[in-house]
Amino acid sequence: MYLSEVQFKAELEKCLQCKTKPCMTACPVKCSPCDFIRYAKNGDFIRAAGEILQQNPMGEVCGLICPDKFCMKACVRTNIDAPIKIPAVQATIMRKVNKIRIDYKPYNGKKIAIVGLGPAGIGAVAEALKQGFSVDAFEKEDSVGGALNLIPDERLPKEVLLKEWQRISENPCLKVYFSTEISDYNSLLNQDYEAIVVALGEQKSRKLGVEGEQFAIDYTEYLKNPQKYVISGHVMIVGGGAAAVDCALTAARQGAKHTEMLVRRGISNMRITAAERDALLGAEVDITTMTKPLKIEKSGDRLIIDTIKTEFDEQDKLVEVAGTQIRRNNIDLIITALGSDRAEEPVENAKIIYAGDFITGGSTAVQAIASGKKTITELVEKLNF
Ligand SMILES: Cc1cc2nc3c(=O)[nH]c(=O)nc-3n(C[C@H](O)[C@H](O)[C@H](O)COP(=O)(O)OP(=O)(O)OC[C@H]3O[C@@H](n4cnc5c(N)ncnc54)[C@H](O)[C@@H]3O)c2cc1C
Ligand code: SF4
Ligand code: SF4
Repeated sequence: MYLSEVQFKAELEKCLQCKTKPCMTACPVKCSPCDFIRYAKNGDFIRAAGEILQQNPMGEVCGLICPDKFCMKACVRTNIDAPIKIPAVQATIMRKVNKIRIDYKPYNGKKIAIVGLGPAGIGAVAEALKQGFSVDAFEKEDSVGGALNLIPDERLPKEVLLKEWQRISENPCLKVYFSTEISDYNSLLNQDYEAIVVALGEQKSRKLGVEGEQFAIDYTEYLKNPQKYVISGHVMIVGGGAAAVDCALTAARQGAKHTEMLVRRGISNMRITAAERDALLGAEVDITTMTKPLKIEKSGDRLIIDTIKTEFDEQDKLVEVAGTQIRRNNIDLIITALGSDRAEEPVENAKIIYAGDFITGGSTAVQAIASGKKTITELVEKLNF
């Protein structure tokens, strides 16, 4: 997560200060590792943190959870030995700095509403405040972060999220209404908001669609409160994406004797990073590939699952392989982690601007922040001030 002093210095030393800044170009929020590494190398951590926050209001959160497919993938140092561990460098810089001053433009006389305080909504709030808007923000839960709250503490301690929000929210031009679900926009459209940014994320978990599904629990339910489901026996996770990996690692950490992922496709089709693959191996999680569930039953305290093998046919379509059905009767907990979809459709209205996973589909925190920021930069252009 964070680097030791020795690792930190070694990573800073590796930077080649590339003139074209490919690391910045590859960053969805256009954070500039080239510059923040230079300031950190000179020992000016406040300036380095300021450089990060200038583009990314959640610099420490992203430092902890940004995948290696953005800045790190673009890092030129790869051609010599290995890319600089830019996210970890970023998180380590942010942790060194307690208080940092953010430059806000004076109040511009205009008010906007922001619905949903996940990364996209937070990105929009931070940028709107910087541009001098007055902001009313509405969040259905009693705290910020959206899907970030499902990320296990081992990867993203919740106090980091709250620390970043504290810094953003201490601006008096912001009013936050927690535990306030907006179910239709007329009440907001009737008020004097210049625009309404809607960043609801994807609230509807995908279903397996098999008999007995009610005996499994959904990944959002599990990750919200894993302590409720501490199992020493056999835990099976149906799904092969990043959320399924978080479920598997959490179950293994909590002492499951046998943790298994059941994946419809092959390992090479799993949408996970090399680091996630290594973590699964390290935690001795079994991955049963090319297999799908057909039915779940409950027998006493245990669960029974019928599965069938899958294969790709000549049209590359995933099909069941006849005669490969088997019955497994040794499962204690089944978690479904098949991803989510948005819970409602966007409505057409010139004043409503959508942001984040709600509109792009499952992405990453940094992409959601970039999307939230963009709604405000476009609004400023439209309002022409
Ligand atoms: C298990 C898991 C692990 C992940 N790991 C990573 C990772 O390692 N790295 C990474 O970059 N990304 C990761 N992500 C993805 C990342 O969390 C999402 O891409 C990001 O949170 C999307 O931000 P968002 O603001 O669009 O939506 P969300 O985070 O879903 O936020 C939407 C917000 O809107 C609120 N809301 C919804 N409806 C209403 C309403 N009607 N009224 C008021 N409020 C409402 C919700 O309560 C929520 O707070 C992970 C996601 C999950 C589930
Ligand atoms: S691409 Fe890598 S080496 Fe080059 S400036 Fe960016 S971080 Fe430094
Ligand atoms: S915000 Fe994320 S992607 Fe961008 S430079 Fe920082 S770590 Fe890399």
